[in-house]
Amino acid sequence: MSLFGLSAADRWECAVHEAGHGAVARHYGATVRLHLGRTSGSYQLSQYDHVSTADLAVIRLAGPAAARLLTGRDSGGRQDRAQARVELRGTGRTVRQAQREADRLVRRYRSGIEADARRLCGQGAAR
Ligand SMILES: [Zn+2]
Repeated sequence: MSLFGLSAADRWECAVHEAGHGAVARHYGATVRLHLGRTSGSYQLSQYDHVSTADLAVIRLAGPAAARLLTGRDSGGRQDRAQARVELRGTGRTVRQAQREADRLVRRYRSGIEADARRLCGQGAAR
């Protein structure tokens, strides 16, 4: 990341990361809005009252999981992992279990994630 914005490779990784959050959020029936800005990306959930805290942690871990599995890089996942650890406290699910579920869902929705990431890179926003 730089003051002048993301390099093309960083931008693709970032788009895949956000699209990973998006695909897994939709898997759990949440509505999600993805954004890719000049220097970073973000996702915003709505209509997720029915999603359990443990599943929110899986959505959280799906961003870094998508970046790692689909681009071989994961430079932006530290905060997501820290947040997921907090969310998983007291849920009875371990970080390892949530991570495995995130990985499984990312593989399942791989083609959709890549399509969303291409849209994000092209337009700056998807859905
Ligand atoms: Zn993220």
